[in-house]
Amino acid sequence: MNACLAGGWSLNGPVLLTLVLGVGVILMARWVGRQRHFPGRESFIVLHIAIFWWLAAAGLELAAQGPQCKVFWASMAWPGIVGVPSLWAVFLWQYVNSIREPISPRRFLLLGIAPLVTLGMALSNPWHQLFYGPGTLPVDATPGAAIRYDHGPLFDAAAIYVYLFMLFCLAVVTRAAYASRGLHRRHYLAFVLVTCVPWAVNLGYVVEGWTLFGFDPTPFSFAFTLVAFAFLIVGVRLFDLLPVARHLLLEELPDPVLVVDARRRVIDANPAALALAEQPQDWQGVALAHWPVFGVELEAMLAAGEKDMLLMPATSSRYFEVRSLNIERTSRGGIAVLGRMLYLRDITERHCSELKLAEALATSEERLRTITRLHEKLQEQALRDPLTGLYNRRHLGELFDREQARCQRDHSPIALALIDLDHFKLLNDRHGHLVGDDVLRAVAIHLTSNLRESDAVFRIGGEEFLLLLPGASGDEAYARLQALCQALAGQPLPTRVGPLSVTLSAGIAQWPSQGQGLEALMQVADAALYEAKRGGRNQVRRLVAADTD
Ligand code: GH3
Ligand code: MG
Ligand code: MG
Repeated sequence: MNACLAGGWSLNGPVLLTLVLGVGVILMARWVGRQRHFPGRESFIVLHIAIFWWLAAAGLELAAQGPQCKVFWASMAWPGIVGVPSLWAVFLWQYVNSIREPISPRRFLLLGIAPLVTLGMALSNPWHQLFYGPGTLPVDATPGAAIRYDHGPLFDAAAIYVYLFMLFCLAVVTRAAYASRGLHRRHYLAFVLVTCVPWAVNLGYVVEGWTLFGFDPTPFSFAFTLVAFAFLIVGVRLFDLLPVARHLLLEELPDPVLVVDARRRVIDANPAALALAEQPQDWQGVALAHWPVFGVELEAMLAAGEKDMLLMPATSSRYFEVRSLNIERTSRGGIAVLGRMLYLRDITERHCSELKLAEALATSEERLRTITRLHEKLQEQALRDPLTGLYNRRHLGELFDREQARCQRDHSPIALALIDLDHFKLLNDRHGHLVGDDVLRAVAIHLTSNLRESDAVFRIGGEEFLLLLPGASGDEAYARLQALCQALAGQPLPTRVGPLSVTLSAGIAQWPSQGQGLEALMQVADAALYEAKRGGRNQVRRLVAADTD
């Protein structure tokens, strides 16, 4: 080796080309290393180092003048030759399967075994001649002439190892290309091409004896891969899959999305937004206020500083919930708003259900109010007599219990008076039923207007009334009933046939002295009333203690 390093060198065209390629490969590895992290990044960088190794050895072989030296540098190329396909396979596997963790050191060392073994086999060739056969000689006698290699069985074994990896690479990217769509498929097809070209060239060299400058053309084909990668990275943003994926997502999204700049001009719109705006022409850069169909509303929303709103475009019967998201850049000076993304979520179904629900709720609330009103009315009606508007017998029990409890607490008495109009049948017969009704109404007014606030009056039968006088003693009740009776007798009542006179008879009972319950008291009062009738009517009676026994 020392002899080779010290031997003659020639810096010819092919050597310079190899040099340029080697520099290109290293620059590429450096540049890729600084890009956004992508799956297989580490393998991709090491792969370029292996390519560089191969190119460096090829350049040195081309530059060396002595045949042994050329064979030596050709042997030195083997770690690169065997390493490239295995590293390419690792990179593709990680990239296709989105594996972000670098390969483990153990596996990396395992992959390194074959390149080192091959290097050992090539370097030890002078002793066994199984790698390069005895026919490995310069093509002609000129100094620095290229070597024609006689491939031995160990060379074939190394080639098979390499081709197995290449087949694996082809299978991985072909399958990925087949299984993906759109931009992804384009990426994988580009990988298929980048994988195929150098190895088609290599097959041509091994099988058909193709040469370039009398040399294995494979390393030179890396010029092609360099250009291809440069195109993939810069042209189709190979390692920028995330933004590509996001863009695809936006394209496929059924909800309209608009992007406006800081001056509220539309700079991007996805197909759903364009469809909703009825496919406008030359839309890029249009002021949001002039955006067809729904621009005015969105402009108003942004101008008012609102973050969301409900939108119903005039041309469609759909409802959208609009959300505005700031597109910001954090710089040293603070946060700069570059623009806004307006996201229109179709909420037609939800909104319609909400409207229906609100409508149903309002209807049922209204119904409930009506039912409550009717219920209260019915309840009131059930307690009142329709002719006079006085409370009826149904309400009597409830009111009596209440007053009884109160008077029990206050140790005060209650008086109860039963009133029956005198000869009412006669009045009916003489003037007719309707006139009788007029009289009943007038008597009701007469009774109510002569009561105190705590008193209550009930119509408990045809022309029978009941007065409940809480707190009234027997004497007091008697006096008040007497006054009522006289007042009625002395005051003709207005009826449809003119004023008519009517009288009443009344019987009084006293709680608690003449009975504990309502029924008992009514019986006493009824007996007293009977007495009043018997006594000639138009009078008030109460039973003395002896009568009640
Ligand atoms: P008495 O002095 O003995 O009480 O004689 P009376 O004619 O009043 O006899 P009674 O109490 O038995 O008669 C009640 C009458 O009241 C019978 C019926 O014609 C009449 N009456 C009952 N309810 C109504 C009503 O709602 N309207 C009218 N106009 N008359 C009624
Ligand atoms: Mg009667
Ligand atoms: Mg009567």
